[in-house]
Amino acid sequence: MSSSPTVIAKTYKNFVNGQWVAAADGKTFPVYDPSTEEVIAHVAAASAADVDHAVKSARAAFDSGPWPSTTAQDRGRLLYKLAEKIRQNAGALAEIEARNSGKPIVEAEYDIADVSTCFEYYAGLANKVLGHVNPVPANALSFTLREPMGVAAQIIPWNYPLLMAAWKLAPALAAGCTCILKPAEQTPLTALEIAGYFEEVGFPPGVVNIVNGLGETAGAALVAHPGVDKVAFTGSAAVGKIIVKSAADTLKRVTLELGGKSPNIFFPDADWEAAVDGALFGVFINQGEVCSAGSRILVEKSIYSKFVESMTEKAKRIKLGAPLERETKMGPLVSKEQYDRVSSYLEIGKKEAKVAIGGGRPKQLGKGYYVEPTIFYDVKNSDRIAREEIFGPVASVIPFDGESEAIRIANDTPYGLAAAVWTRDIYKAFRVVKSLRAGIIWVNHMQPTYVEAPWGGYKQSGFGRELGPMGLEEYLETKQVFVNLDETPIAWY
Ligand code: NAP
Ligand code: MG
Repeated sequence: MSSSPTVIAKTYKNFVNGQWVAAADGKTFPVYDPSTEEVIAHVAAASAADVDHAVKSARAAFDSGPWPSTTAQDRGRLLYKLAEKIRQNAGALAEIEARNSGKPIVEAEYDIADVSTCFEYYAGLANKVLGHVNPVPANALSFTLREPMGVAAQIIPWNYPLLMAAWKLAPALAAGCTCILKPAEQTPLTALEIAGYFEEVGFPPGVVNIVNGLGETAGAALVAHPGVDKVAFTGSAAVGKIIVKSAADTLKRVTLELGGKSPNIFFPDADWEAAVDGALFGVFINQGEVCSAGSRILVEKSIYSKFVESMTEKAKRIKLGAPLERETKMGPLVSKEQYDRVSSYLEIGKKEAKVAIGGGRPKQLGKGYYVEPTIFYDVKNSDRIAREEIFGPVASVIPFDGESEAIRIANDTPYGLAAAVWTRDIYKAFRVVKSLRAGIIWVNHMQPTYVEAPWGGYKQSGFGRELGPMGLEEYLETKQVFVNLDETPIAWY
């Protein structure tokens, strides 16, 4: 255990209607520190009855009470106060995030800063939602109102726990929705730590509810509940498909941010050092547990061998270690389950391709779900390690011959979340950008993400967009109002 003053070994309940409530059946589940494999907290496990309570609270808060008459300006003020409160507690929150998820403390600090920025961005956008007047003939007036969608169920993964909560809650609250957030079972602690802030800064009870529990029980009950208007989900494509099918029964609005197998494409004219660093950063940041990880590294044949060599040399310097040590660049994977899953792909990869570096547990570390940064090369795009999302520190390097082959390989995937291209040739860069079927494309970088710009995927990486003004749109309905200005009776008979 860390010697820090942050104490998190305690039991958390669900946060419903502004109160902490135990699960109706009294069940809890343990939460771990993946670097020590020890239990650090117990959390109430919601069943369908608890979910029903939370949805009814969110429904009541949306339909009556002070929230529907809270002005957009005031919703913005509340979000600014929340952002400030998170900034004041950023150090403690980052530490809890690092301990619970395994990510390096320095990355957790960036994440928590981004959480505040996200709430601030949508605070500012709340009172900038505009309707418009429609140009119908002069004997009528038609205008469009934008209204909150209603009760939003928000289901998030474990890789960026509080940041994913912010991406969901901030636009929904700015829009005037009420929310039920279900954090991932592995990493609920930071969301629970900020639950009380909502009350403290003045959000009415029931506007934000947090229920914990397993996807198959709590998550599934939320998605099926008829009191929910909208489901926003981030996670695996497999669960995304289950969610769409379940939500279809009540025709809920759904947005999905799913995984990827994103190509990171390198041409010989790229800045060499920046490119090699970008290849490593793109795939190993956050232990590779990133939906937009550049896990397929496409390198032109003329530089291929030297590129694999340079990546391998530099990868040796990546410091694995305890999440709370400031020099750590990669911590453990989030859970035993994820460690086992990634380890099984390492075995598959050893049969399909060649190992440049890594391929197992780091020998110098004892406990903890650590996996070495692993680079497979001579990978074929048809190999499983090039097609399936591994969600760990595993790079598949694939050679290509010329621009059109790079584009063909890059697009040959069921996913379409992100891609990157490295070249100094601006014409080539834009040709590639236009040819790639993905929702986020970086040129000469990979991974920077800004709240001001839309985030989301093509193909099986999901639909809908988070962040930016589009992220707010996903929580708004459109109401067209027609006003008759013509006093002549309808000549119908
Ligand atoms: P997951 O199973 O898709 O879980 C994501 C969220 O959905 C969690 O809160 C989960 O709950 C919940 N969930 C699971 N089954 C559900 C259901 N039937 N109905 C409603 N909600 C449900 O992802 P995971 O188990 O955490 O990781 C598995 C794989 O998903 C990873 O290896 C990776 O490929 C992918 N993934 C992608 C992202 C991304 O950002 N795109 C993030 C994380 C994982 P519980 O976890 O509490 O059971
Ligand atoms: Mg799960």
